[in-house]
Amino acid sequence: MNDYDFETLAVRAGQVRTAEGEQAEPIFTTSSYVFGSAKEAAERFSGEVPGNIYSRFTNPTVRTFEQRLAALEGGDSCVATASGMAAILATSLALLQSGDQVLCSRSVFGSTVKLFEGYLRKFGIDIVYLDPTAPEDWRLAATERTTMFFVETPSNPVMELADIPALATIAHGVGAILVVDNCFCTPALQRPLALGADIVVHSATKYLDGQGRCIGGAVVGDAERVGEDVLGVIRSGGPSMSPFNAWVFLKGLETLSLRMEAHSRQAMALAQWLEMQPAVHKVYYPGLSNHPQHELAKAQQSDFGGIVSFDVFDKESAWRVIDQTNLLSITANLGDTKTTITHPASTTHSRLSEAERQAAGIGDGLIRIAVGLESIRDIQADLVGGLIEG
Ligand SMILES: *Cc1c(COP(=O)(O)O)cnc(C)c1O
Repeated sequence: MNDYDFETLAVRAGQVRTAEGEQAEPIFTTSSYVFGSAKEAAERFSGEVPGNIYSRFTNPTVRTFEQRLAALEGGDSCVATASGMAAILATSLALLQSGDQVLCSRSVFGSTVKLFEGYLRKFGIDIVYLDPTAPEDWRLAATERTTMFFVETPSNPVMELADIPALATIAHGVGAILVVDNCFCTPALQRPLALGADIVVHSATKYLDGQGRCIGGAVVGDAERVGEDVLGVIRSGGPSMSPFNAWVFLKGLETLSLRMEAHSRQAMALAQWLEMQPAVHKVYYPGLSNHPQHELAKAQQSDFGGIVSFDVFDKESAWRVIDQTNLLSITANLGDTKTTITHPASTTHSRLSEAERQAAGIGDGLIRIAVGLESIRDIQADLVGGLIEG
């Protein structure tokens, strides 16, 4: 199966037809499985004979999603999780131990920082935050205790890129692994494992679903770290994916490359249009040739993705732009067919101190748009009022 192209794998990988001959994948809503005999039950429980026991461990619909995403990311194993955060938690519990140090990008998802600071630290894990655009800083910061590098690329909301091959080389040189949160690009635009990363984590909630319906996540990587260690955490700790959600994500994957292509095209058009608006001071989009990492984006991504951020004068102007929209959804979610607009400084990044926001480049006038699939003219028309007044 894995010889097929991406688009084919997205539609077909992982499907196992039952004797009913169904065309679409069924949803196996069952918590447990029955055995033909006491002996068979004993063999399954001992692991002597592989097979289903209980849906916290394995479920056919979830397995289809896992195998399809593994094929798309080019990983040997994938473990689905209840949320993107459960994917990061399970990866951390499986692969870190007390005394380890994590080097983490300073521009990662807010809950990732809360998880690391509030919980990992409690178990004696040290976390150091670094500039994702400066790989040499990572080499200098690494110690013999460093076992994991963690990045998101592009980052939220100012679209900074981490150079995956460069960081992978540095991580491996110090005996650490590189974990990439591939939420913004998805495997349709960026395949971190092929670029040298060891583990990919996902919030399936975003583009893998693509229509804002379900919470879920996944970890992809090699058979030992993911197929055994991460799976072990999910089995024993419990944050497994529901079969219904797995089915929604499975259907999402079937249209992933079409959607990512359309999101990227729309975002590029919006970024170019925003650059021409007098009220807009700066546009952050890796597809623009004036983005400081445009060349890196071209090298490690096949397109530039659906997120565009831009600066207007101040918080009042930003709120005015947001409040006069009628069509766009004012919400912090992203990866939806519906365009969303948010003011990071007062929502997603409000818990950071002023200084931390400054370091991350998140000013009071910054607006983030996750460009959906409505007509680009309607999206522009919905923004223009607030920009003209500004
Ligand atoms: C949303 C998000 C997460 C967390 O995923 P959930 O499904 O909300 O738990 C992690 N990383 C990134 C980059 C995200 O955008």
